[in-house]
Amino acid sequence: MATKKVFTTGRFGTRYGKKVRQKVIDIEKKQKGWHKCPYCRKPKVKRVSKGIWQCRSCDAKFTGRAYEV
Ligand SMILES: [Zn+2]
Repeated sequence: MATKKVFTTGRFGTRYGKKVRQKVIDIEKKQKGWHKCPYCRKPKVKRVSKGIWQCRSCDAKFTGRAYEV
């Protein structure tokens, strides 16, 4: 199967439509950015792995949704 590589969504191959791809790109951009910590309210939270987040400010590790805090 030929795969068209479109940003990070290339791994999905030719499945899913363009709209879904765009959504995934948006989500992945969000993942890589900083998130607000629910404990200290500082935007210092990074995604450690799927559903796991860590705050670089107060060092809290917590679970959240897979793609957003
Ligand atoms: Zn914090």
